[in-house]
Amino acid sequence: MRSEPVPGADLVVDGGWLLPGLVDVHTHPGTEDLDAPFSDDVLRRHLSDHRDAGVLLVRTPGSAAPIPGWVDEDPDMPRVHSAGRWLATPGRFFPGFGRDVSEAGLVHAAVEEAKTSSGWCKVIADWKYDEPPLPREILAAVVRAVHAIGGRVAAHCQTADGSRNAVEAGVDSLEHGMHLDPALIDLMADQGTAFVPTLSVFGAEADRWRAAEPSARRDWWLAGWEGMLPNIRAAQEAGVTVLAGTDSFPCGTVASEVEWLVRAGLSAEAALGAASWTARAWLGLPGLVDGGPADLVAYDTDPTLNASMLPHPSRIILRGRVVA
Ligand SMILES: [Zn+2]
Repeated sequence: MRSEPVPGADLVVDGGWLLPGLVDVHTHPGTEDLDAPFSDDVLRRHLSDHRDAGVLLVRTPGSAAPIPGWVDEDPDMPRVHSAGRWLATPGRFFPGFGRDVSEAGLVHAAVEEAKTSSGWCKVIADWKYDEPPLPREILAAVVRAVHAIGGRVAAHCQTADGSRNAVEAGVDSLEHGMHLDPALIDLMADQGTAFVPTLSVFGAEADRWRAAEPSARRDWWLAGWEGMLPNIRAAQEAGVTVLAGTDSFPCGTVASEVEWLVRAGLSAEAALGAASWTARAWLGLPGLVDGGPADLVAYDTDPTLNASMLPHPSRIILRGRVVA
């Protein structure tokens, strides 16, 4: 994009607020059902849903199949930063949905996924609440190997031990981070581990868990949920990069994650940045600056005042083209 006047240009926005395109850093377009195969049609629909809500950049931390090359070539599709397939060691994740790999083969597979995606890989670092997480030494070896080729590592963590192992292994992003020990937050800030709590998906389940029959799993889940909002606020205050990811369907709902981040105690501006300029910078894309990509959304009213307006920009401009 450029900021100086362009002779003969069409005026497409006259006043209001401009933001760099919205970002969802945790979304899994392509299939939304364990029984349904990953399909190009579903992928196109999911990405179109994101774009129509002003989400012009997504990171896919795991998918059931590699993101096909046509996505990058189609100017109507949001930009996609992929982490390749989910990397699942035995007993962790839905069998056959991601890339199943032995613990001994994980480092090699992680490097492969990072090389063939957008530089990210995604490791399922824990799964069942009462089973052991991926050992820290293995995850640390993944981080070393992937960093050595210039890649980055995202880790799914929902247990205290899994979150601890991931942070101590030095992953680049902690996805979910349920049961995160707040004592680890300073380490996250020091080493640059971002926090992607995906509150929308947990928040949507909270009432169901509260109403569930008492069980060890219910107690575990609710304790984890209750810790999440205070942890997010503490992380933000400590200087951790907190980012907006939905991890849920339909696609195009990152505004709900912004609302959750505000509920957790982020300022309206910080929560919005988590789904826009902060997320873009974290993924290596400049904001609204000369020479940066012309990906932007326009609003008639101040978007920090009402997050429910976010999915309804007055204009959506992607790669310099007006798409809505
Ligand atoms: Zn996910």
